[in-house]
Amino acid sequence: MLKYVNHDIVFSEFPDEVTLAVNLSLCPNGCPGCHSSYLQGDVGDELTETRLLALVDGYLGAVTCVGLMGGDNDPVAVRHLCRRLKQLYGPALRTGWYSGRSRLPAGFSGAALSEAFDYVKLGPYRRQLGPLSSSGTNQRLYRVQPDGSMEDITARFWRH
Ligand code: SF4
Repeated sequence: MLKYVNHDIVFSEFPDEVTLAVNLSLCPNGCPGCHSSYLQGDVGDELTETRLLALVDGYLGAVTCVGLMGGDNDPVAVRHLCRRLKQLYGPALRTGWYSGRSRLPAGFSGAALSEAFDYVKLGPYRRQLGPLSSSGTNQRLYRVQPDGSMEDITARFWRH
């Protein structure tokens, strides 16, 4: 089960996208120095498919991407929701997942990956290495190709 605490329109989490970012709680990663410790708790409301679609409908035309930020407690649910968005809205609305994992879960490859996600961010937060905007970061943002291969586009964050 996924729970979300809030949502926001963001401009820099996914390059060239205006993103409806949905912040998910129940984070199991326990990163030392976590920048959003409230997201580790059992807080917020359940993010059902119906709830997510209602949220997205409210921003259609205003956003180009929907980002699920977190959800490592239930990656299969994240993938299901993002696949549904792509089925319903097609290529005009991209989908992204911000995971704190170092690697994708088993089975998140090939068509099972590309049918759900346009972008995947991997890597736990390490305060000494910094976020994606730091050239020394351990985190990576990938653009998912149709065959499920992943193009590392992290450097897009370092050019500003
Ligand atoms: S993944 Fe994010 S929310 Fe979860 S523990 Fe790490 S920094 Fe905190």
